[in-house]
Amino acid sequence: MIKKSFSFIMIFLVLFSYFVRPMPVEAAKNPETLQDLLDILNEKKREKAENDAKKDQAKKEIEAKKAAIAQAEADINQAEKDIEEANQKIEESDNKIKELNVATEKALKAMQQMKSKNAYLEYLSNSASITEFIMRIRAMEQITDAYQKNIDALDQLIKENEQLKIDLKKKQEELERKIPEYQNAIENLYGDIDNYDKFAPDLEEQVRQAENNFNLYKEASLKLYGKVVYTARLIDLMENNSMWLKPLNSGTVTSPMGYRTHPVSGVKYSFHSGIDIGRVSEGTPIYAAAGGRVSGILRYTSCGGNMVYVDVVVNGKQYTTYYYHLLSINVSVGQTINQNTIIGTVGGGPRAQAAARAAGKKTDGCSTGAHLHFGVMTGAYTGSTPASRVVVPPGFNNAKGYNWSNRYAYYGNR
Ligand SMILES: [Zn+2]
Repeated sequence: MIKKSFSFIMIFLVLFSYFVRPMPVEAAKNPETLQDLLDILNEKKREKAENDAKKDQAKKEIEAKKAAIAQAEADINQAEKDIEEANQKIEESDNKIKELNVATEKALKAMQQMKSKNAYLEYLSNSASITEFIMRIRAMEQITDAYQKNIDALDQLIKENEQLKIDLKKKQEELERKIPEYQNAIENLYGDIDNYDKFAPDLEEQVRQAENNFNLYKEASLKLYGKVVYTARLIDLMENNSMWLKPLNSGTVTSPMGYRTHPVSGVKYSFHSGIDIGRVSEGTPIYAAAGGRVSGILRYTSCGGNMVYVDVVVNGKQYTTYYYHLLSINVSVGQTINQNTIIGTVGGGPRAQAAARAAGKKTDGCSTGAHLHFGVMTGAYTGSTPASRVVVPPGFNNAKGYNWSNRYAYYGNR
């Protein structure tokens, strides 16, 4: 019996762990061969098509929400009009009630007078018969009855109107509450569109960049083997660096690589894809942390400004290095560079902003002052910087506030 329930529990546990196991998160694969680069390029093309469809969907939802806001606003106007009308009706009813009260009182008085003065004797002489006189009294009673009924009906009307006023006010408040709800929804949707657009290059640009770098490796293969070898290892198509160097001769880590609260957007746990090196002035030369081939350049992006990507191999391992917020760029795509090459100069501050404005281009919305965003990820450049591939470059200190005096000042002095 115990054995039986034990095996039940075991079966349950096995099934349970099978079904509740988290979905495997596909880690971004490091491309190792030319074929890998081509596969990633095709995957990006597919992603772009999917993303375009999502963007369209978000835009449609925004239009629908906007229409709903317009409707809610129209409904509020209508409710206001209805309230005004209800008020008018109430006023009219009040007036009618007053008039009726006056008339009723008069009628009642007349009757009382008739009764108290034994008026029927007087009326008898005037009436052709006693029947007529009684009819007269009854008629008067009926009139006062009718008045009373009218007053009751109007009282009812007043009550209804008061209720109507309350209901309409409620409706108006409800609609007024709805508008900010819709506006929030719209902002969220715009945020969705932003997410597709803002972080790193947009997918269209990513496809372009991935294609570009794939072609650079293809050329390298042609040069080395006399033909395009899809199974060629990418590291065999690159020069090796024996060590990393710092890209700047000075500076302080102002924001480490990793998850943080974004300094501009305020978004919590946004991923910071590199080490921010600040306390340097704009125009300071940036050297290549490792020699290699310039694999991508983006100019005047709204988040990152001018960006340079360089494919490198250090100690037999392939990496992509990237340098953001540049004031100027001194290299071009496809160019082979060494560790003494000046890639460009530090931007991210007012000079870079002014240069972008002077060129009539977008300013860098993701920098709050002069600094270099230096990033390293494993594998060749594929047009984007997936968080799973981003690393702290070996030997670098990722701690906020860390200072170094020169390019050779390694953490741990390696
Ligand atoms: Zn940064």
